[in-house]
Amino acid sequence: MRSGMQLDDLIVYARGDFRRYADAKVGLLTHGLQYGTGCFEGVRGFWEQDERELYILHARDHFRRLHDSAKILMMKLPKSADALAEITLELCARNKFESEVYIRPFVYKADEAIGVRLEGVKDEFAIVAIPFVGYFGEAKGLRCGLSSWRRIEDTVAPARAKVTGIYINSALAKSEAIANGFDEAIMLSHDGHVSEGSAENIFIVKNGDLITPDPTQNILEGVTRRCAMTIARDLGFTIVERPIDRSELYTASEVFLTGSAAGIMPVESIDRRTVGDGKTGTITKAIMDVYERAVRGKEPRYRDWVTPVYANRRVAAG
Ligand code: PMP
Repeated sequence: MRSGMQLDDLIVYARGDFRRYADAKVGLLTHGLQYGTGCFEGVRGFWEQDERELYILHARDHFRRLHDSAKILMMKLPKSADALAEITLELCARNKFESEVYIRPFVYKADEAIGVRLEGVKDEFAIVAIPFVGYFGEAKGLRCGLSSWRRIEDTVAPARAKVTGIYINSALAKSEAIANGFDEAIMLSHDGHVSEGSAENIFIVKNGDLITPDPTQNILEGVTRRCAMTIARDLGFTIVERPIDRSELYTASEVFLTGSAAGIMPVESIDRRTVGDGKTGTITKAIMDVYERAVRGKEPRYRDWVTPVYANRRVAAG
């Protein structure tokens, strides 16, 4: 969005074409709005001023996860992950973004009728992209609190699917954390093991090894989680995926959260107990530094993580 541009003039992708945000509104009785029957993604774009280039991070992986979420909810996306990633690039180009961006693709049950169910209700798909402002503001480290809200169980609703309605769980936990003076919530699973933040996965460091909850701990299997694991492995660290107890959080030497919006964020304290010496730990810092370069296409090893929006289009335009 160029400066001075209004939301109404933003170009979005909806009902199979590019249109103005103002021309893509949904009705009050829309199923997805009434019952939370939708799936979504959060994809990041990183602006590199020197090159005047916008790099989109792991778009295909996000659309693959969206396909999986949709399958669980008996929905269908209109195109393949590759085709939707291509539309995302075109959408960013049409908006002429020259800033960090946040991209929100979503598929939702679109009938305007009463009746909670999944079958026989039509699906609609859209992508909205907007300029991004830091998810945790200027914070360099987070003060986290354990939530009294447990992370949704897979026996209640599919935790590994990014489902609109499930975000009531995150919203309750996050609001409670803020009300208690924290920046972010950490939720436990029903069996009392650490699951994740309201919109981030969690890693702890013990004796120089990284530990993160395995995918059966009701986590959303984050794209950033995978990036952090790849970087950590390539830096020579050991990663263990296993259940984590609450009290292990208090004695970890480092803790960090990962998410598309949050990036890789050090945790400064948990339940008012300082993590390590309260500063960003050396292992966290090493992973963050590589990640920050990688998302801007500056790490040759991970160059295929990002796709430039403008490079090919400039060539095509001659
Ligand atoms: N858990 C939840 C509940 C989330 O909403 C997110 C953000 N999508 C994550 C974890 C992190 O996932 P990703 O790294 O793919 O953004």
